[in-house]
Amino acid sequence: MRPFISSIVAVGALAFVPAAPEPAPLRGFTAQSSALERSWEAKFRAIPEPKRMRDMMQRLAAHPHHVGSPYGKQNAEWIRDQYASFGWDARIETFDVLFPTPVERVVEMVAPTKYRAILQEPTVPADPTSSQHAEQLPTYNAYSIDGDVTGPLVFVNYGVPADYEELERRGISVKGAIVIAKYGGSWRGIKPKVAAEHGAIGCLIYSDPGDDGYGGGAVFPKGPMRPPRGVQRGSVADMPTYPGDPLTPGVGATKEAKRLDVRQAPTMTKIPVLPISYGDAQPLLAALTGPVVPSQWRGGLPITYRFGPGASRVHLKVKFDFGLKPVYDVIARLPGTTEADQWIIRGNHHDAWVNGAEDPISGQVAELEEARALGELYKQGWRPKRTIIYASWDGEEPGLLGSTEWAEAHADSLIAHAVAYLNSDSNGRGYLGVEGSHSLESFINGVEQDITDPESNVSSWKRNQAALVMRGDPDARAGGDLRIGALGSGSDFTPFLQHLGVASLNMGYGGEDDGGIYHSIYDDFYWYTHFSDTSFVYGRALAQAVGTTVMRLASADVLPFVFTNLAATTHRYIDELQQLRDRRSKEIDEERRRVSDSVYAIVRDPRDPVGAPRLQTPPPRFDFAPLLDAQDSLSAAAARFEKSYTAWRDGGGAAQERAQPGDGGAAGLAEVNRRLMRAERVLMLRDGLEHRPWFKHSLYAPGFYTGYGVKTMPGIREAIEQSEWGRVNGEIGRLAEAVNAEAALVKEAATLLQPR
Ligand SMILES: [Zn+2]
Repeated sequence: MRPFISSIVAVGALAFVPAAPEPAPLRGFTAQSSALERSWEAKFRAIPEPKRMRDMMQRLAAHPHHVGSPYGKQNAEWIRDQYASFGWDARIETFDVLFPTPVERVVEMVAPTKYRAILQEPTVPADPTSSQHAEQLPTYNAYSIDGDVTGPLVFVNYGVPADYEELERRGISVKGAIVIAKYGGSWRGIKPKVAAEHGAIGCLIYSDPGDDGYGGGAVFPKGPMRPPRGVQRGSVADMPTYPGDPLTPGVGATKEAKRLDVRQAPTMTKIPVLPISYGDAQPLLAALTGPVVPSQWRGGLPITYRFGPGASRVHLKVKFDFGLKPVYDVIARLPGTTEADQWIIRGNHHDAWVNGAEDPISGQVAELEEARALGELYKQGWRPKRTIIYASWDGEEPGLLGSTEWAEAHADSLIAHAVAYLNSDSNGRGYLGVEGSHSLESFINGVEQDITDPESNVSSWKRNQAALVMRGDPDARAGGDLRIGALGSGSDFTPFLQHLGVASLNMGYGGEDDGGIYHSIYDDFYWYTHFSDTSFVYGRALAQAVGTTVMRLASADVLPFVFTNLAATTHRYIDELQQLRDRRSKEIDEERRRVSDSVYAIVRDPRDPVGAPRLQTPPPRFDFAPLLDAQDSLSAAAARFEKSYTAWRDGGGAAQERAQPGDGGAAGLAEVNRRLMRAERVLMLRDGLEHRPWFKHSLYAPGFYTGYGVKTMPGIREAIEQSEWGRVNGEIGRLAEAVNAEAALVKEAATLLQPR
């Protein structure tokens, strides 16, 4: 069909426009079921309204609504009532979690100059909700321990491991010191973790204006960037070890759950931590003496950045109320018909650090509009095959509390019933970002092609493709599936994907908005409606994109997993790991040679001496053979599944059912889908990752030293990056086992789907 149409266009026969060709069936649908699905989807996408999203944002962000706040509870009840009014069965599930709030906060420089930090974000007169000080949480980092420490101050750049190597080469120790780190470069919880590993006694984290303040544009309220006294709140729990309530790892934080003592909770920080503004940081940094930092360490303040400590002494005191607080998860269900025991789950959090218009209400209002639109369709007679669960999570900000506790409390049913989890969080203008399970990569490419980008009026897929072409991506022009990124952490998909093995996607628009209000009192309705998706057309696009994804997953005849994309991705990761080993080997050899040739000693500036890096043992050769064999099996099984799928689709699917009941028909399809549901599950490592068994996915994990940033094939990758050579072959074996299990399952599904 296609070549014929395009040849007409090619000869210039534009005088008569041929009728639009019948589009190819949607993935997972027959020609017949696809046509029906498309007509319901078209109705669905016409329903979400920007004006409603704007009104809901104004309502939900009208007051601070953090965990344990009165307005947070009111929001949960209001959201529940919204779902109910849309025709969903909606209820609130409550968990009791550790949520520390500050009682006392002091940061002061006592020498060589005196300065007491203000630690307060001021009212901005133009911005009505910025004055709600009585309801706002103070500026702080949750899950810092109590502490009262005084010591010299050392500037550590972003405070990641590489920064401490630089300090070590200059002979600067942070032992017994308080460090001051910039926000950025890693997830914030990494900074106190690495500081404590190096012997620091306290940690300050500040937002440098070069990163999200005046360096990027006018500051709020003139522009979207961070004003001098704006502070980023946030959790500093050791979430790469496990997220959720620090007191109940692995189990739901129900009333009767066994709890750790706060002092035993392994994810609490080891040293006291407090975030500050650049207004408060400047006098501290300006008082530091010692050598000037390298150019990459410099920020945007009008001072000379130095390492310190010189004569500096800083006093840091924090004291917390370590009480339990309730989190209110809103869970709404729309029942399925023939496959009601298969669940499609979709979530976005509703709690914020303060008013949180962007984070998370911009995503929450899209989720609510989807729910309203799906409720509308239901009233018109639409019935999804599978059960749809919409969740509005509480407690995401302190540490994915609501989603993690719910996933842990319902682990057995989720393992038995969950097909996929779809997440969103903050939403803005620009490009549709999608990250997640690569078995859903091809499917989500199909969805993106049916969503119209409101600014360019092409599809969101086309706009993403154009952006990749601009970046010189060699594959983008070919027109095949665009790659999706892998998920690390930073939002509520983590317990589903990385703890339970539920195939997951995280979706959201962005890339055109800049801002410096993250986790401050200025992330509010005023800011969002002046500087972000001001007309809420991207809110509508997000509702259309995620809702379409939900509908397709809920009604597909064959669950739309495509394993050739997964196999191509694992192939790429294995190549990367082999290259990583070779690169590390070369680098280490080169360093050793420079030291033995006295290169460092010869080039050293005696007035600003920098030592040689610590020498490392070069890596041996690793045995990748078991993994390469498993990869071959997976590629073969994936290709075989595609062949079966094509034969099923071209045979008309349903027709097959009539011809041979119980074979390629309904009962057979149910068997196929039961296998497909388990496809992400079998990628889980039985004992989880080294040192952090809560994280079980063999392909995706947040980095132990990056936090949000993903490490793919994390067992092997982190062993190589951290020079733990003795662990690598064992990790290759564990991963090969998971990939082999995946290959066997996909092969089984292919055999079951193959028409006989
Ligand atoms: Zn968020």
